[in-house]
Amino acid sequence: MAAYEYETHVYDVVVIGAGGAGLRATLGMAERGLRTACVTKVFPTRSHTVAAQGGIAASLGNMGPDSWQWHMYDTVKGSDWLGDTDAMEYLAREAPKAVYELEHYGVPFSRTEEGKIYQRPFGGHTTEFGEGPPVQRTCAAADRTGHAILHTLYGQSLKQKAEFFVEYFAIDLLMSDDGKCEGVVCWKLDDGTIHVFAAKMVVLATGGYGRAYFSATSAHTVTGDGGGMVARAGLPLQDMEFVQFHPTGIFGAGCLITEGARGEGGYLTNSEGERFMERYAPTYKDLASRDVVSRCMTIEIREGRGVGADGDHIHLHLNHLPPETLAERLPGISESARIFAGVDLTKEPIPVIPTVHYNMGGIPTNYWGEVLNPTPEAPDAVTPGLMAVGEAGCASVHGANRLGSNSLIDLVVFGRAAAIRAAEVVDPASPTPVPSPRAIEGALSRFDGLRHASGATPTAALRLEMQRAMQADAAVFRTDKTLAEGVDKMTDIAGKMNDLQVTDRSLIWNTDLMETLELANLMPNALATIVSAEARKESRGAHAHEDYPDRDDVNWRKHTLATVDGSKVTLDYRPVHLDPLTTEDEGGIQLKKIAPKARVY
Ligand SMILES: Cc1cc2nc3c(=O)[nH]c(=O)nc-3n(C[C@H](O)[C@H](O)[C@H](O)COP(=O)(O)OP(=O)(O)OC[C@H]3O[C@@H](n4cnc5c(N)ncnc54)[C@H](O)[C@@H]3O)c2cc1C
Repeated sequence: MAAYEYETHVYDVVVIGAGGAGLRATLGMAERGLRTACVTKVFPTRSHTVAAQGGIAASLGNMGPDSWQWHMYDTVKGSDWLGDTDAMEYLAREAPKAVYELEHYGVPFSRTEEGKIYQRPFGGHTTEFGEGPPVQRTCAAADRTGHAILHTLYGQSLKQKAEFFVEYFAIDLLMSDDGKCEGVVCWKLDDGTIHVFAAKMVVLATGGYGRAYFSATSAHTVTGDGGGMVARAGLPLQDMEFVQFHPTGIFGAGCLITEGARGEGGYLTNSEGERFMERYAPTYKDLASRDVVSRCMTIEIREGRGVGADGDHIHLHLNHLPPETLAERLPGISESARIFAGVDLTKEPIPVIPTVHYNMGGIPTNYWGEVLNPTPEAPDAVTPGLMAVGEAGCASVHGANRLGSNSLIDLVVFGRAAAIRAAEVVDPASPTPVPSPRAIEGALSRFDGLRHASGATPTAALRLEMQRAMQADAAVFRTDKTLAEGVDKMTDIAGKMNDLQVTDRSLIWNTDLMETLELANLMPNALATIVSAEARKESRGAHAHEDYPDRDDVNWRKHTLATVDGSKVTLDYRPVHLDPLTTEDEGGIQLKKIAPKARVY
């Protein structure tokens, strides 16, 4: 191995990632007097959170009656009863507080006539424990909510004197022999130097792994780096079989048209011009939850009622809405439709298709963001020195299916919770651990191996193989046959990581090497997804198994844990948390209300 010199930095906390989750954690930790570094591979305001359009859920009740208990109920039902009840309660209860904080930090929310935060309807958000009409719960800054939140949080983090390390790529976690996280090794992309960060707490806020699939709404940088690092540290990934397909990706381009479009009155039609969602979900129609709408669209296409020359997509209509509403509430998607579909949405429908959008699974944590290292005796044991928040983590509030606008709120509620917890467990006066030289050497030798990889398979070719296999076999609908084939294909593809070919050996702006490191992170995420899916013999949320069409609460109301070692995946399970945090007497939810039942919309 080439010898690598490195510079060492010492902090109380190192946050990896500067999306909504990373910035909210960074800001909260710096505010609480912890010496905080935020390391990010892209400039903070280019993180994928910037693309979030529709909004952020919180039961403010600005547009009609609402309550956190109703929000919690909708989240439990949306999760198809796989989410952890304590975490879902924490999310719904803390949501209004977290949104008002954002408002005070300066997020320019759209306003009602009276000057309150504007809220729009989103799929699966209802009143009266699913018995009442849809609710307007999703707080929005036009259709650029993520953009507004990200810029505001970055400014506030700078104000709190958090230190940013921009365009630094985190390679691996530094784990002690007794399983504690003591820091992280990074590669500075623009000058090729190596940096070791020693810290009392490392927070993974690296986002999802949408790019394991061929067609995804996420940015090309969304490559599951946190999950990859955790898998290499020997820790499990949770509930990876649950991948959300968003009903309305632009056909061909994959870019997202927000669910807010249907919230504002948009609807879907098939080749017969029929508003088919009325048939499948008579009450909530086009605003049923995402997995339901994606499946209905797929059935319409399969049964020959798709639109277009090949009958392979669906139409989304907004052309009946007043042009002023479109200009005021949905300016961003008007532009996307014009650029990516060549459509003037005031006149024509947009061609759409279900597209990979969000990963419900990720690094298992408790509702304070602490990463779990579960054993059969202690299913909630934590890994000292390590937290995970945002899409990288799995708290688990989204269970088997996430409701729209529940991710942005997850970022800020759990980013904030992690900061509160870190201030309790990290003592600024205590000495910072010195990462073991063995761990540093291990990380750098893997890095060096990839840098000098001289096999026969170019990174881009192997990535494409993986993306096509995942798209075909871990799709909206799954069968025993497609999943078993998928496991075989993916095991074979992961094996080819040993035959990679990297052509650029330099260390400065070496995008070939960076994409190879990203592929090495995508791969364990993808493998865990297909193997966990193959094992789950039921249908729940986004996991629609045609050979087992029903949910099976007796055998399968449990979290999957996947430990990945090379191309081998070992599965285990841990129980779902069934108890809420507060009792009915304390204003909490009546357990009876959230007991499992069939999920109909
Ligand atoms: C198009 C689109 C629209 C969406 N709209 C909504 C919406 O309206 N409402 C809603 O609730 N949700 C929405 N979502 C989902 C939501 O936006 C995401 O789940 C969320 O933004 C993820 O935030 P994050 O902070 O976890 O990660 P990201 O915003 O993805 O940020 C990841 C960060 O990690 C850093 N990073 C990653 N790997 C490394 C590494 N190896 N080294 C250093 N840094 C690294 C990156 O630089 C980046 O700063 C949308 C998603 C998409 C794709």
